[in-house]
Formats: sequence, structure tokens, C-alpha cells
Amino acid sequence: MSDKLNLLDLTRDEMVDFFKEIDEKPFRAPQVFKWLHQFVADDFEQMSNISKSLKEKLIKICEIKGPDIITEQMSKDGTIKWALSIENSKTGTSQAIETVFIPDGERGTLCISSQVGCVLDCSFCSTAQQGFNRNLTTAEIVGQVWLAARRIGALRTTGKRRISNVVFMGMGEPLLNFDPVVNACNILLDDFGYGLSKRRVTISTSGVVPGLDKLIEKADVALALSLHAPNNELRNQLVPVNRKYPIEVLLPSVKKYLDDSSASKKVTIEYVMLKGVNDTPRQANELARVLANIPCKINLIPFNPFPKSGYETSTQKDIDAFGSILIKKGFVVVTRRTRGDDIDAACGQLVGNVADRTRREQRKLKKTTEDSRDSS
Ligand code: SAH
Repeated sequence: MSDKLNLLDLTRDEMVDFFKEIDEKPFRAPQVFKWLHQFVADDFEQMSNISKSLKEKLIKICEIKGPDIITEQMSKDGTIKWALSIENSKTGTSQAIETVFIPDGERGTLCISSQVGCVLDCSFCSTAQQGFNRNLTTAEIVGQVWLAARRIGALRTTGKRRISNVVFMGMGEPLLNFDPVVNACNILLDDFGYGLSKRRVTISTSGVVPGLDKLIEKADVALALSLHAPNNELRNQLVPVNRKYPIEVLLPSVKKYLDDSSASKKVTIEYVMLKGVNDTPRQANELARVLANIPCKINLIPFNPFPKSGYETSTQKDIDAFGSILIKKGFVVVTRRTRGDDIDAACGQLVGNVADRTRREQRKLKKTTEDSRDSS
């Protein structure tokens, strides 16, 4: 790994400080920042308004390094999925994360990862099966947007701004990688950076309350909550972090965020539809009661199967019935269309190759051995 400073790691303020440290004029920082994020430059030589001596200095001590592409797949529907290589500096090995671009008319949504793997162990998510390795750096998070913009020619300056939205719905739990995620959001929102509107950058969380409680001070962005169940008993099983931050603690924290935020006046409630698990009319009514005081829109996500998940997708009939109960109660409900089917780019199907550093494999192995002992 290089010991040069990767400039994709810096917010504009941090870049100003850095330029002061290297005895350069602070106004040079926004100029370089623009080259990086508006023109998605990968080479100091391109920076035509920067003096030769400054370029030479920067080349010596800095670099512009996005993640390396392992594969790039394009779906029939225009969805693009990248597997990106993420270095592990300690072992010198590399692992994969995924980034997905979903075009939809004028809109282009980029779904990005915040961690290599995830610690949360949600029972229906394929990332959970892979365990957790490490947090991504700001450069690795912003690098996904930088790289996608370069690949699809989404240059703001050419008027082809095809990345209109960024959602943290790839691998990982963004609120468990707080500072890098917040810095990345601020680079995405910065007018000298990607200049995205704050309503078009969405943090999706499974409900990490301490992170949520301090988010508004650091970044004002749209919010999505992976709820998936209308009560603690079921949510404890599907989203185990619920045992730590149960629904009666989580929803007030979401409400407070919405009150303080100007980006997110409504939270998007994500609800994965699992056949026979959380998709009955009774559960729809219970969900309506739980969400009664939360300004929200509800996104029903047909479960995307993966090997050994143990779950099935709800039938279309059950999804429709569930949705119409909520609509009758006055909720806005959208059923998410599955995109990028042919390239396994759907939610919860992002499969990296994570070298798990938690002890979950050993735990699972131990449990299986105990279970088979119990049953014998
Ligand atoms: N950790 C964050 C962000 C990553 S998951 C969070 O939990 O919100 C992004 C969304 O995809 C979440 O709503 C998640 O619950 C959903 N998801 C995960 N696995 C899925 C699957 N197999 N099918 C459908 N949606 C899934």
C-alpha cells in the first residue's frame, strides 16, 4: 500500500487545512477539490489551472486513487454492478465490495457500500453470512461514486449528470462507520464536490440509535430505516440489533431526526417481504399502529433469495394485500421493483469475499455441533 495521501479521503475543509500545512494558498484547495469530484480527474496533469510547481509537489506526496475494478456487469435493464477490490493493508490481501448503479428515467441511483461485510447478522441478508472485516475509509466510500461517475460518464460539467441519487444500501451498516460515512456525505453534498441535494443522499440504517442521535449534527441527509417487523419479538429475530435498540427506543430517535432535519421530513421504512414470516394482514395492521405517529413512506421489498437463506419471497397477492391495508390506513406505500435480476444486483444479494474477523463462523460451527449433539 502506498504511503501517499489519497486526496479522495479529504473533505473540502480538510483539504484547506492540508494545503496550509504544505505552505500552499488555501484557495488552491477548492480548485483541486473540484478537479477531483466535478471533473472526476485521476491525474494531476489534467488540472489546468494549477501551477506546475504545485502539481509537482502534489505528485510527490499525494495520489488520487479510486478502488480497483474486479468485475463490471451490465444488466439488460441498464443496471450496472461493480465488484471492487478493497485492500487489507495488514495482510496485503484484497477483498470485494459491491456498488450498483440503477438508472430509472431521469434518475440514476448509486447504491454504495460502507463496510467490508457487516456485523449486524440480519437473518435474511446475504452480507450477514459473510461476516465482517473492516470499515471503509472516506476515500473508499467516495471512491465508489468517483469511479461510477467516471465509468458512466456522469460528468456534471457535460450536463450528463446521471448519478442523481446516492443511497447507503450496499454492504455494511453506515452508522457503525460514522466519521467516514459523514465525511463522504459532506463531499457528496458539497457544491465544489458532487453537489447532490441533501434529499438525494440517503443513509439506510437497521437502527443503530447512538449513531442516529448524533447524525444530524454532522450531516443532514435523507433517512431510511430497515424495520422489517412490526414488533420486537419478530424484529429481534430478523434484525438482531433490535435487542439492543428496541422499537420503542428506535422510533422516537427516528422522529427526533426528522424533526431536526431539513433533508428528511419523512423516513423511508424498508420492509422486506418474507413469506409466512412478516407478511400477514394482522402484521400489516400492527405495522400501521406502530408507525401511526411517524411521518413515513413505506417501501415493501420483495425478498431476494440467495442460497441457504431459508426464506422465500412473499407471493404478489400477499404483498398487494399487505400494501392495501397500509394504504387504507393512509400510508404511502411503494413496492420496490427488483432491478438487475440477471446480474444478482438486488438488495441483499451483494456478495463480496469477506475475510470474516468476527467469531461468527466458530460460533455457528459450535452451534451446529451442539444442535446435532442435542438431536442425536
Ligand atoms: N445496514 C443498512 C444498509 C444495508 S441493507 C440497513 O440495514 O439499512 C439495504 C436494504 O436491503 C435494507 O433494507 C436491507 O434490509 C435490505 N435487504 C437485505 N437483504 C435483503 C434481501 N435478501 N432481499 C431484499 N432486501 C434485502
